Amino acid sequence: MKVHEYQARALLAEAGVPVPKSLVATTVDEAVSAFHDIGGKCVVKAQVFAGGRGKAGFVKLCDTADQVREAATFMLSNRMVSPQTGAEGIEVKKLLIADAVDIESEYYVAVVMDRAKRTPVVMVSREGGVEIEVVAKEKPDAIIKRWLHPHLGMIDFQCAQLIASLGFTEKEQKKAATKVLRGLVNVFKNYDCALAEINPLVRTTDGQILAIDAKMNFDDNAIFRHKRLQEMFDPAEENAMELRAKEHNLSYIPLDGNIGCLVNGAGLAMATMDLIKLHGGEPANFLDVGGSVTAEEATEAFRIVLSDSKVKGVLVNIFGGIAKCDTIAEALITAAKEIGFNIPVVVRLEGTNVDRARELLKEAAIPQLITADDLTDAAKKVCAKVA
Ligand code: GDP
Ligand code: MN
Repeated sequence: MKVHEYQARALLAEAGVPVPKSLVATTVDEAVSAFHDIGGKCVVKAQVFAGGRGKAGFVKLCDTADQVREAATFMLSNRMVSPQTGAEGIEVKKLLIADAVDIESEYYVAVVMDRAKRTPVVMVSREGGVEIEVVAKEKPDAIIKRWLHPHLGMIDFQCAQLIASLGFTEKEQKKAATKVLRGLVNVFKNYDCALAEINPLVRTTDGQILAIDAKMNFDDNAIFRHKRLQEMFDPAEENAMELRAKEHNLSYIPLDGNIGCLVNGAGLAMATMDLIKLHGGEPANFLDVGGSVTAEEATEAFRIVLSDSKVKGVLVNIFGGIAKCDTIAEALITAAKEIGFNIPVVVRLEGTNVDRARELLKEAAIPQLITADDLTDAAKKVCAKVA
């Protein structure tokens, strides 16, 4: 799960990280009134689940109410396109109006789970700002890392080393930077983050250390134990199809290709995608209906796959164990009646009640439905149909 910058800032502030004053607005008028409440120069920032806002024109420094009006109007009426969004971009529904700061230097600080070392790693860099990905690629030495002991957390000397590597030598600044790092590490640990990042952390011209952008990802499997995060969940920002799938106990992941896959079991779904690729096709999604799928859930799965306009053909691959082939056949028939298949649907069923399933499908005589003998046959047929 992701949260917006304003929510991440709130978590940081509660953990003792110094953050400039800010307000959230959902309309142009609210943005202007937030500007007056803050008083003086401010920065208008689109609240979306993607970075690269600065370069896309969705972070704007404003000196006057008219400038705020103009920036807010632009951001709320244009979709933001950045290297992180895809060509279609994302709609901006909320803005953050933050007290602007005069920046002397920008730093990067983050805590992320290092899967290979199986422990969190703190990363800092003096080359913070909008291009940390470029720094990571071209100058990896400019990113200093310290791995945390899973139980002891960040030990004082590690914190001191990280702060020294950022070039903070003056006592007050070291104190402030310690607060930032400790606060960030605590947020990471206390909220089961996968990533907690401040980019940039800035030193202002008057010597303050402040977090002016924050990004956080949380482990979905831990959300149940954080009421605070549940309250922050914003369904409007999630992929509508993924949400719909979740409500029906289906796991659905959209991909870039044009062959919809409807499979039971994650392992079988992977094998199905491999075979599609082997025969020259590209999967449009990963849809796992699970082991004990009901007819309604399976029908919903068809609705989800068929509602994606990218999908030019569907491969249904079911190995009936707990999930019965006839249940899937019934769902296919219902879906065909309800939505109608205007694209080829290749079906491979095997396992429990497969004979009954074949009879049902034969009786129903669904146009566009193609049966396959085995998985290779199914993959070849669907790839040939969409080619
Ligand atoms: P991102 O592009 O989505 O990561 O958005 P950020 O919030 O990081 O803003 C991008 C850049 O805008 C920062 O790296 C700063 O250089 C600049 N910026 C953001 N807030 C302020 C501010 O209050 N004052 C000044 N001078 N620049 C800012
Ligand atoms: Mn940033």
